[in-house]
Amino acid sequence: MSWRPYTNMKQEIGLNAIAASDLHGESAPSTTDVSTSTSTSSVSDSCSSASSPTDLTSPEPELSDAAPYDLIVVGFGPASLSIAIAILDTLSPESRRSQRILFLEKKSEFSWHGGMLLPHARMQISFIKDFATMRDPTSKFTFMNYLHTKGRLLDFVNLGTFYPLREEYEDYMRWCADLVQQDAECVVYGETVVGLSVPEQEYFTAEKIPHLAVTSVCTYDPAQKAIRLARNVVLCPGARPQFPSCFPAELTRRIFHSAEFMYKSSELLALASQSSAAEYAVAVVGAGQSAAEIAQYLHANLPLDSHVDMIFPAGALRPSDDSPFVNEIFNPEAVDGIYSLSDDRRRAMFDEYKSTNYSVVRSDLLETLYAIAYEQKLPGRTTRLGIKNLQIVEDVCVIDKQGAEKVILKLRDQYNSGHIETAEYDFVIAATGYDKSAIFTDLLSGLSRYVPASEVTVDRGYRVKLDENIEARLWVQGCNEATHGLSDTLLSIMAVRGKEIVDQIFDK
Ligand SMILES: Cc1cc2nc3c(=O)[nH]c(=O)nc-3n(C[C@H](O)[C@H](O)[C@H](O)COP(=O)(O)OP(=O)(O)OC[C@H]3O[C@@H](n4cnc5c(N)ncnc54)[C@H](O)[C@@H]3O)c2cc1C
Repeated sequence: MSWRPYTNMKQEIGLNAIAASDLHGESAPSTTDVSTSTSTSSVSDSCSSASSPTDLTSPEPELSDAAPYDLIVVGFGPASLSIAIAILDTLSPESRRSQRILFLEKKSEFSWHGGMLLPHARMQISFIKDFATMRDPTSKFTFMNYLHTKGRLLDFVNLGTFYPLREEYEDYMRWCADLVQQDAECVVYGETVVGLSVPEQEYFTAEKIPHLAVTSVCTYDPAQKAIRLARNVVLCPGARPQFPSCFPAELTRRIFHSAEFMYKSSELLALASQSSAAEYAVAVVGAGQSAAEIAQYLHANLPLDSHVDMIFPAGALRPSDDSPFVNEIFNPEAVDGIYSLSDDRRRAMFDEYKSTNYSVVRSDLLETLYAIAYEQKLPGRTTRLGIKNLQIVEDVCVIDKQGAEKVILKLRDQYNSGHIETAEYDFVIAATGYDKSAIFTDLLSGLSRYVPASEVTVDRGYRVKLDENIEARLWVQGCNEATHGLSDTLLSIMAVRGKEIVDQIFDK
């Protein structure tokens, strides 16, 4: 068995009627998980209910008689990409061809935080920590080779930076994803995994359960369903945008998460330029890098009679710490030390180092924002960037004001004896971070008999401890910050971590 050609896999799961153009037609991937929502994107018509002898797309699919997979990886973001690249870099072609390997990605094509690809936004990690260099600088998947291939190597050197534009780094990731597909044809896009389970007993004869069942649906037509068996499964679904509890459960187009900013900013800016109201106002809730980038972008792009407020409970916007001694916490070997600590000590360490990543802003952007705030105090200037520190958002509601939707925020001033005021905005953007465990909990709920959510234990090698009756193996990536440290949700150690996983799966 070899890595299966993409077209064959599409037929196997009954998605053969989807045109290639449809698989790349998505402009604004939904941030909502299909498993919890029926929302569809603009290409929702593209998944037909085609049937074939191996069709698994009926509402109650039977297990296919196709051979089980050696490996199924859920999600095809950076964590999975580093696993795919480690496979291509370290397994011999013969060994690779003897394995059935599949990556399932819910989006229609590779993209990385597309809603936050603001022009001029830079990476917060050195390009040398790409998908390969730290593990094997001679790999063809290095950022240097990407630059060389694109004819920009010398120009990039002349820039004199370690921190490429986010837009350029995303293009590097896409280039890697395309190379993986060219070399191995192992990625299926447009399929959302909805859960793992243990197959019914009729599907195995061994004493121990040899496979996990991976159930997925067509992202654009959840009625189309597939179930596959796999000896090894890795979950890399990333995190879910998170709103504070005071935000309404049903969002309107006037309230959205920073993860969707670039998809929704055109409408926001268009309405601002059409607005006859003297003061068009946007609130950005949060004090981290995303909030600061969005506030700067809106300040630069909103009409001159509009303003943007940054609202956050802390006393001040603070700089991220990327100084060299502190940065050692992101070295691959730091994971061993962190994993070996007691829970209390790990929590203390997290608090000590969290200013590397949480509710902090790169110092150059902080200085830019401070300069804006200062310059608007000069004679004849108006305040277009408000820094509303020490404010807790207590309630968010939408009202109709003379035919126009407005968002009302109830703010508690922590400084001024808890004084409460309301403020009116045309849009509110929650730059309030991500929930790193919810997707995993959902995906694992079908295994709760074997691994209850409250008792999930992950070893140093990211493998989940399953019931002793299960022989199949399961790894999780991106939800282990509490046990494996701050690098778990970042790009820092992915080149090395990808190979750690590959070595375990293929018993190297
Ligand atoms: C705006 C922004 C900028 C960042 N910049 C940096 C930076 O400069 N440096 C750094 O180190 N880190 C950065 N990060 C942190 C970021 O989390 C990591 O860079 C990286 O995205 C984590 O990769 P991942 O593969 O674990 O998750 P993700 O990137 O979220 O990828 C997960 C993939 O799985 C897919 N998926 C999810 N659920 C399913 C499902 N059920 N079925 C099928 N597919 C599914 C998703 O569509 C996605 O493609 C940034 C984060 C943000 C939000």
